[in-house]
Amino acid sequence: MTNNIYFIANWKMYGSTSTLSSLNKLINLSKQKKYNKAKIIYFPPFTLIYNFMNKFKKTKISIGGQNCHHIENYGSFTGSISPKMLKELGCRYVIIGHSENRTAGETDANINKKILSALNKNLKIVFCIGETLKEKRKKITHTILKNQINKGLKGIKNYKNILIAYEPVWSIGTGVIPKHNELETNVSNIRKILSKKTSVKLPILYGGSVNDKNISNLKNIRGIKGFLVGSASQNSKKFIDIIKKTIN
Ligand code: PEP
Repeated sequence: MTNNIYFIANWKMYGSTSTLSSLNKLINLSKQKKYNKAKIIYFPPFTLIYNFMNKFKKTKISIGGQNCHHIENYGSFTGSISPKMLKELGCRYVIIGHSENRTAGETDANINKKILSALNKNLKIVFCIGETLKEKRKKITHTILKNQINKGLKGIKNYKNILIAYEPVWSIGTGVIPKHNELETNVSNIRKILSKKTSVKLPILYGGSVNDKNISNLKNIRGIKGFLVGSASQNSKKFIDIIKKTIN
């Protein structure tokens, strides 16, 4: 596993061409030696990927798609984007299994097909897993995470292009984050589940209401190699603070 600390900016269905100038300070930060190990990856909406590519052209900042179709190349799927299309645009990553898509009907089987297709196209996968509040209250978090991992990663032979984003569904967009112990236990359980599948040490990231205030606590969670940031990443100042407070 590399020494990188991942900072993932998921812009969801937000942003316009006029928001691009807000990224200048972040670009400056990414060029400073002090932040060399910060691996910054932006996931703009599909409509802005090309603009982001131009904006980040001479930087180390990578870009990914927020989702993709499970068919690798082309097909009659209105409104969909394939792994090949993301790759051709210059994307290096794709988010798969985000809870907002799982809630909209995406199944573990579908997620598995997407991961296999995207890996075939040499994209790196940010594979999202996490329990709902109901599942947490029923105390079945471990089983849920195990099922999501085993079903989502079924048939994977090469794990080296996969990152895991542990995102408790009840924490996404709510301002509520897990307690320190709970988070460390879940991350350690994820590590154990993964170690039964592969000897590759996949980076495990945390996502769910990460902001410039709670990052000082979150960065001390054992076993975490970075953060998937939704709403706070749309504010460059907050996102920069998150990176600075983690690395300093
Ligand atoms: C997310 O988009 O996965 C996310 C964690 O969002 P937020 O940071 O807004 O909770």
